[in-house]
Amino acid sequence: MGVEVVEVTRPRVRVHVRLKVRRRGWCGRCGELASWFDNGDGVGSWRHLDAGFSTVELVAVARRVDCVEHGPTVAAVPWARHASAFTAAFEDLVVHDAIVGNKQAAADRYGICWRAVNNMCVRLAEEALGRVDLLDGLIAVAVDEVKYKKGHRYLTVVCDHFTGKVIWAHEGRSKATVAQFFDALGDRATNLEFVTADGATWITTVVAERAPEATVCLDTFHVIGWATTALDEVRRGLSRDGRSADPPEMWERPRTGSSRTTPSPTSSDRCTTQPRFVPLCRPRRRRRPERPGRLTGQPPPAPVPSKGT
Ligand SMILES: [Zn+2]
Repeated sequence: MGVEVVEVTRPRVRVHVRLKVRRRGWCGRCGELASWFDNGDGVGSWRHLDAGFSTVELVAVARRVDCVEHGPTVAAVPWARHASAFTAAFEDLVVHDAIVGNKQAAADRYGICWRAVNNMCVRLAEEALGRVDLLDGLIAVAVDEVKYKKGHRYLTVVCDHFTGKVIWAHEGRSKATVAQFFDALGDRATNLEFVTADGATWITTVVAERAPEATVCLDTFHVIGWATTALDEVRRGLSRDGRSADPPEMWERPRTGSSRTTPSPTSSDRCTTQPRFVPLCRPRRRRRPERPGRLTGQPPPAPVPSKGT
């Protein structure tokens, strides 16, 4: 291992790492042991955590191994993830800043581009998802769709009610999309006890087929909406029946002006329950007399002299 200081505007410390010469190595993609292939493109560098005001880089030969599954692939190194120009410690720090703040702020802080920060987040997310199974131990889930971008583009999202987190998402909103979730769930679908949805048939139909033991719970927003619509239909039906039983002139609104074509019903024809339309008119206000001398241009009247003067 050697240390070299390169004189630039920002000091750069390059740490040369020499790996042990072995006949075998680990594939960078799958991590399986594979035979040595060649030295690849030669020396590679990975940016490491800064040392004070200096940028630190690890420099080593990026060897390749001959993986049975992936063929010639860059061998895994213990300090970095596959296909990355940064060390794992540096990526962990940048992703932490991106989570606490945002990606652009993290990119500005470490002097890298936004796309590099985004790729770090993707690599860490894939690594984390490979360690855990989000579909394990599900009892109550929620299925719904969410719209993204412009046009009719939807994602089907499944959440775990106990953790409140998204556990599965896929493009589209159809029976086939929900079926893909149950395909990934496998036999664990029998453990589902509650499935909440918005009453869409493309969800409830598949749930009834793949998880018949689960109870489908509908959200209160749609239930109240459906009840309000049903009450509105009943109200309209009753109003329609009541109007048909009454004489037609009873529900006729009296018209005013010269456009009246039908005579208004007399007091003897009116039913006691006939609605009366009483115009709400304000009493006419009397016009205030104009004060002389302000608008008419007349001179104001002379003051009346008092008796004492
Ligand atoms: Zn491999």
